[in-house]
Amino acid sequence: MVKIDYFMNLRNLTIKQIHQGLLKRDFSAVELAEYFLREIESKNPDLFAYLFFDKQKVLLQAKQVDEWISEGREISELAGIPFAVKDNILVEGIPCTAGSKILENYIAPYDATVIKKLKRKGAVVLGKTNLDEFAMGSSNEYSAFGICKNPYDKERVSGGSSGGSAAAVAANLAVFALGSDTGGSIRQPASFCGVVGLKPTYGAVSRFGLIAMASSLDQIGPITKTVEDAALVFDVIKGKDPSDSTSLEVKEKELEFNLSNLKAGIPKEFFIKGIDPDVEKVVKEAIKRIEEQGVKIKEVSLPHCTDYALATYYIIMPSEASSNLARYDGIRYGFSWPEAKDLQEVYFYSRAKGFGEEVRRRIMLGTFSLSSGYYDAYYLRAQKVRTLIRQDFQQAFEEVDVILTPTSPTVAFKIGERAKDPLSMYLSDIFVTAVNLAGLPAVSVPCGKAHQLPVGIQIIGEPFQEKKILKVGEFFEKL
Ligand code: GLN
Repeated sequence: MVKIDYFMNLRNLTIKQIHQGLLKRDFSAVELAEYFLREIESKNPDLFAYLFFDKQKVLLQAKQVDEWISEGREISELAGIPFAVKDNILVEGIPCTAGSKILENYIAPYDATVIKKLKRKGAVVLGKTNLDEFAMGSSNEYSAFGICKNPYDKERVSGGSSGGSAAAVAANLAVFALGSDTGGSIRQPASFCGVVGLKPTYGAVSRFGLIAMASSLDQIGPITKTVEDAALVFDVIKGKDPSDSTSLEVKEKELEFNLSNLKAGIPKEFFIKGIDPDVEKVVKEAIKRIEEQGVKIKEVSLPHCTDYALATYYIIMPSEASSNLARYDGIRYGFSWPEAKDLQEVYFYSRAKGFGEEVRRRIMLGTFSLSSGYYDAYYLRAQKVRTLIRQDFQQAFEEVDVILTPTSPTVAFKIGERAKDPLSMYLSDIFVTAVNLAGLPAVSVPCGKAHQLPVGIQIIGEPFQEKKILKVGEFFEKL
């Protein structure tokens, strides 16, 4: 009886509570894994959050944790916790497609550093989640294998590109998930699906084993049901990794935290036209509530962000992506056009048939902005504007501790509404891309509903202030 009660309530259980359940032997790690596998089998065919899962492999990992427990070994809080992995992060021995035909048959030869770290703690990999092809998109509609729908309303998108991870957590098909965020891909789907999504400071988490999109922007981070869970997972995956030279040791100061000492900035340019008035209302209401707790709210200005961040991002990201994606040539990885008559045809046809339309569009945009004669006008200029954007934030952080914005200007939109119009799709990234350009940490936390759909508030901090933004996130979570 106890077990059934537990599993019925699992939706509300945090990592710590599940850990207690395992320690008290209310259920075993295998029973827990079996519960999630059943949920995935019944709900995934409609939702399509997972691209791949392997029951036997899941149960083997869980069995190992049960053995540790029965041997009386001390186990970590993440031991036995089933989690989902965005399908652009390598897990040894299982497929990694990046949502693309070109990698359809690719099996990862090793574990990404984040996976190694989580496995060492005994966390159980459930499977690989759906994403926009090569993480390029804001809706999951650009996945080569089909759309992951929004669990709140199946006619709407789950967001992108980590839509599968966010939907899996929201639909209770995993306790937590990993996503990647190059220009909002953790935060925006988290906001659309009513869960928590943390994009760490650039360099705080190793990118080794993450399929590269835009290397100066990419970060891996957790998608969770609660802020506390996000902090727990971040704690395990963060830190310097010799295999990623851009990674750094995270030295967070212990926080004596008190809301009444906190100053929060509201960028005046961020409540723009184009933002859904109902979303604006929910976010402003949440800000009012935190003000009532003693937080000082101050208007700040990020003049280059709203005007230029999106344009800057959509030059730098495709430029870096075009270079990163050059490795998919039909020889080294994945799909190769079988009827090619010579090497040139292998390159041409493997790439033309293997990549989807959006990926090819970005490769062309990026190749153009990096080409001689245009490099100075586009890529170099975008890098200069990037510096201005970073300075905007630096200046704002001289006056405030955190910056609050909506995560997305709208709630989850309808499937099909934007897929054919790239510009309107890019606009959904308006509040999130500046954070990647500046390398800052930010978390999206649910703060209410508009049109009966979840709305997320974005809390942006200074580099390596993850603890602080998560603490502020806890407040909004309680709303
Ligand atoms: N929507 C962004 C894009 O399409 C998200 C990218 C990302 O963070 N992976 O580029």
